[in-house]
Amino acid sequence: MANLIVTGGAGFIGANFVHYHRKVAPDDQVIVLDLLTYAGNRHNLDGLDDVLLVEGDICDTELVSSLIADHQIDTIVHFAAESHVDRSITGPDAFVTTNVIGTHSLLKAAKKAWLDEGSGKPHRFHHVSTDEVYGSLGPNDPAFSETTPYAPNSPYSASKAGSDHLVRAYHHTYGLETTTSNCSNNYGPFQFPEKLIPLFTLNALNGKPLPIYGDGMNVRDWLHVEDHCRGIEACLRKGKPGEVYNIGGGQELPNLTVIEEICRSVDEAFATDPSLAKRFPDAPAAQGRSSAELKTYVTDRKGHDRRYAIDETKAREDLGYAPARDFPQGFAETLAWFLAREDWWRPLVQRAALVR
Ligand code: NAD
Repeated sequence: MANLIVTGGAGFIGANFVHYHRKVAPDDQVIVLDLLTYAGNRHNLDGLDDVLLVEGDICDTELVSSLIADHQIDTIVHFAAESHVDRSITGPDAFVTTNVIGTHSLLKAAKKAWLDEGSGKPHRFHHVSTDEVYGSLGPNDPAFSETTPYAPNSPYSASKAGSDHLVRAYHHTYGLETTTSNCSNNYGPFQFPEKLIPLFTLNALNGKPLPIYGDGMNVRDWLHVEDHCRGIEACLRKGKPGEVYNIGGGQELPNLTVIEEICRSVDEAFATDPSLAKRFPDAPAAQGRSSAELKTYVTDRKGHDRRYAIDETKAREDLGYAPARDFPQGFAETLAWFLAREDWWRPLVQRAALVR
């Protein structure tokens, strides 16, 4: 039995991880530490009555220290971050504060509790990071491996790279038992509707433009969030302290292909279920037209990385990790979730000043 702090556990991936972890390790104690920024949502944890949500800042080292002491925490799974690249371009300060200083605050509290004052018991600091730290690939370059040199291009990826280096240093210098996973683009339930897949899905349902950056040929590897959560569990159970694991979905796709799959799936859902036309009368699919007519090309993102791809050989061989879904299956599940959970996304769409 373990006692976990999950930072950022009210956000997209963190909340999915908490739901997943409750299923695979129901006896563990789980404390979520989350500042509930615009991206955090306490309703993402609905139904998990035995999970304690502490509303607080990872930069508050004293708070983290007292949570570790009060709840005999032996595991920190660190998701909390500013995570939206577009926001990092217009306002990078929050990214440096949360992603770099916040991660360092957690490392300091963990070192103090587990090494300086600790009993030498096993512990784990698992840091969730991104493939974006490796920079951008050309069309024929090999996929990112754990030894690919870092070359972050956006304030977001640079701040995540800084946090990765601090985690590495706390293992190398002090012997803190850390693991890091660098994963590709996630999608699935609870994803805040400013990111590509929920934004385009909801815009297709609501008859709003689908704003495609540049020529739409930027390539990403798409990972269903539950597959990502299984990868993180595998890191916690089988990962070796000090190691880094790349976790991918094995679905390298240009944005245009992803958008076409969204449009095709939405059109098919309307054709199969006539009640959708009443619920979403502004959707082109409600009048028997194609969602693809909403596609609009817009000015490219500044510094937009062209291609990311993940070589997950190490995770496969050392952790037994393999994604369970391809993109069409994962997106079909995601669309079904968004259609069923209008109560979740409607208030966010109405309230949020969405960046795109
Ligand atoms: P998210 O933006 O949906 O959620 C972030 C959560 O962190 C929110 O609940 C927010 O309230 C919380 N938070 C922010 N600042 C905080 C602070 N100072 N103290 C405490 N809590 C704070 O992000 P996400 O998409 O779930 O990403 C989670 C992690 O995974 C991040 O570290 C991100 O870099 C990484 N990641 C995400 C993706 C992706 O595709 N979404 C891909 C690779 C890596």
